[in-house]
Amino acid sequence: MLESLKKMFSGNEEEPVNPGSKPDISREKSAELYEKAKTYFPGGVNSPVRAFKSVYGTPLFIQKGDGCFVWDADGNQFIDFCGSWGPLILGHNPQKVREKVTEVMQNGMSFGAPTALENELAEIIIKNNKHVEKIRFTSSGTEAVMSAIRLARGYTRRDKILKFEGCYHGHSDSLLVKAGSGLVTFGETSSLGVPKSFAEETIVVPLNDREALTQAFGQFKDQIAAVIIEGVPANNGLLMQDPEYIEFLQQICKENGTLLIFDEVITGFRLGFEGAAGYYGAKPDIVTYGKILGGGLPVGMYGASAEIMGHISPDGGVYQAGTLSGNPVAMAAGIAQLTELLRSGFYKELNNKAAEFVESIQRFATARNYKFKVFNIGSIFWFAFTDKDKIQCAEDIDPASMEKFKVMHRELLNRGIYLGPSGYEVGFVSAAHSKIELEKAKRAILEALDIVFRNK
Ligand SMILES: *Cc1c(COP(=O)(O)O)cnc(C)c1O
Repeated sequence: MLESLKKMFSGNEEEPVNPGSKPDISREKSAELYEKAKTYFPGGVNSPVRAFKSVYGTPLFIQKGDGCFVWDADGNQFIDFCGSWGPLILGHNPQKVREKVTEVMQNGMSFGAPTALENELAEIIIKNNKHVEKIRFTSSGTEAVMSAIRLARGYTRRDKILKFEGCYHGHSDSLLVKAGSGLVTFGETSSLGVPKSFAEETIVVPLNDREALTQAFGQFKDQIAAVIIEGVPANNGLLMQDPEYIEFLQQICKENGTLLIFDEVITGFRLGFEGAAGYYGAKPDIVTYGKILGGGLPVGMYGASAEIMGHISPDGGVYQAGTLSGNPVAMAAGIAQLTELLRSGFYKELNNKAAEFVESIQRFATARNYKFKVFNIGSIFWFAFTDKDKIQCAEDIDPASMEKFKVMHRELLNRGIYLGPSGYEVGFVSAAHSKIELEKAKRAILEALDIVFRNK
């Protein structure tokens, strides 16, 4: 048979790749910085997942980023798929954002009084997003979500909220709650320091489970202020929900006078300018954004109809504030970044590039019968060591599979590919990843997969 035909029929279109582990990259400077950092910060970090607790080695200290690359303190270069956990949809240090920020900074960095920049960013958002009529800027996603919950409670005059196991909404007390035992339960706190009485106001149910939701609304009739869900749950694997389920969720909220909050801190401006709500054609009552919105600077936001937002102070009785809210430098970054995203064809090009990248990886893994799936939506992807075709709730993830991710993570670092240091985290393709770099990354990923499954 002709070589080309052979390949066609075997379905294995990839050449065999080098199966040998590579030696560890030098991490002397990072290790030194980490030792020092441990004397200053708990675990040596200012946010726990950065500590590399679920992968080999110690954190890399990043010195600079440019386009799709980052460099660590030892001068190692990586193609980055973490993108600061989502904000960097244009890649690192994009010229347009950098220039706007440096221009605005010349006039000072904070006033605690309104600036035209807030109007400018708000206008870009509100004009291009049918889900919000009025918004409020905050300084983080956590703050946005915390405020959205307070708004929902104030608006409905109810106390309970319902969240889903496997969704992350930042670190406010009401949301650091996980499922107890049983289908519908009051949550149990997932952090020390959260009063039990707070957790009792949060109901936790599994994703993609209509029965649990129906039962919760039955059990807590007229008590649930809001249901909060990630637009597409992407903080504990990538747990894509069926559109019919989202429809059901909207319906049951409506019937019960409960507000639906779409936490779009990851998916907002990522799946398209209108995020997951736009993607599903959903109509959440309140949306929260962060990450991409700030172009790499700390910005969050929540928004809703003018009527609902009318309950926020000083117009209404729900208090919410912030010394640095609407900070001009952060607004400038948001303005520059979102303006780029509105360019015609932006998302199509990015999403196509990402799809091509993950499909080629999947073809390779499938041809070799590896228990490995790449889940993907828009430019978000998740590497899962599973043979399931769908993973839609937290329980579907096998914790033992994370051992394989650990090996993959090390092999990828040693091949110049940076993924977030946890197998539960998703990766992001940015506009700065060119086909050449994606091809390079793909080769490295295939090599790493061969190593992970060498002893299968
Ligand atoms: C990141 C994230 C948050 C928290 O945002 P911070 O800026 O880290 O406070 C909240 N919700 C979702 C869905 C997120 O992905």
